[in-house]
Amino acid sequence: MSKSLVVAIDGPSGSGKSSTSRGVADRLSLDYLDTGAIYRAMTWALLERGVDLHDPAAIVAAAEGIRLTSGTDPSNPTIHVDGTDVAEPIRSDEVTGSVSLVAAVPRVRELLVDLQREAIGGSSGIVVEGRDIGSTVAPDAPVKIYLVADPAARAARRAAETGSPDAAATELALARRDEIDSTRSTSPLVRSEGAVVVDGTFLTLEEVIEAIVGIVDAAR
Ligand code: C5P
Repeated sequence: MSKSLVVAIDGPSGSGKSSTSRGVADRLSLDYLDTGAIYRAMTWALLERGVDLHDPAAIVAAAEGIRLTSGTDPSNPTIHVDGTDVAEPIRSDEVTGSVSLVAAVPRVRELLVDLQREAIGGSSGIVVEGRDIGSTVAPDAPVKIYLVADPAARAARRAAETGSPDAAATELALARRDEIDSTRSTSPLVRSEGAVVVDGTFLTLEEVIEAIVGIVDAAR
């Protein structure tokens, strides 16, 4: 049996991972998994339950009982918590501001990495985006990309996406999230071994997609 194709796309917040990953999946007719959405959905569910996100033991106790399901169609990525569609609320400022706290809890990562590996195992070819895909979730992925962009470019893009008038505040918020994501002890954001760095600062979305499609084609 031939091994299924996994394209791991990691990188900091606002580097354009989601649009890029969906675009690559679409171009190559692959499935798509947004692992950030899974951490966001867990965070949303914990906030809904009133869990203190500064209390890792309380987070773990609640997290064990929360059922997340994530669709892998790049044209319609879905995410549900115990059957409720949470695609919209997981993008709220409240979730965005708290998700790194939840993602830093090792047991939460264990639970969610299992879920991600199940989705990857059930696919014959998939683009997976996140922070630790190439390092932890799918270290054997035949294609690993580390997507970066200049912080000001990332902030401008994120401010445009969210309609925020304040790019400086957005840049600060991204920097804070990256700091937590990069310095946590379990699976921090890193460029994994063998990952190809793609810098999207001066490229259009189409150009970034094109570059990654080229890398994938060369690897198969
Ligand atoms: O990619 P997105 O901004 O939606 O990710 C939200 C958060 O989820 C990140 O800031 C990070 O804390 C966490 N995350 C993670 N590992 C991943 C994907 C996301 O820790 N593989």
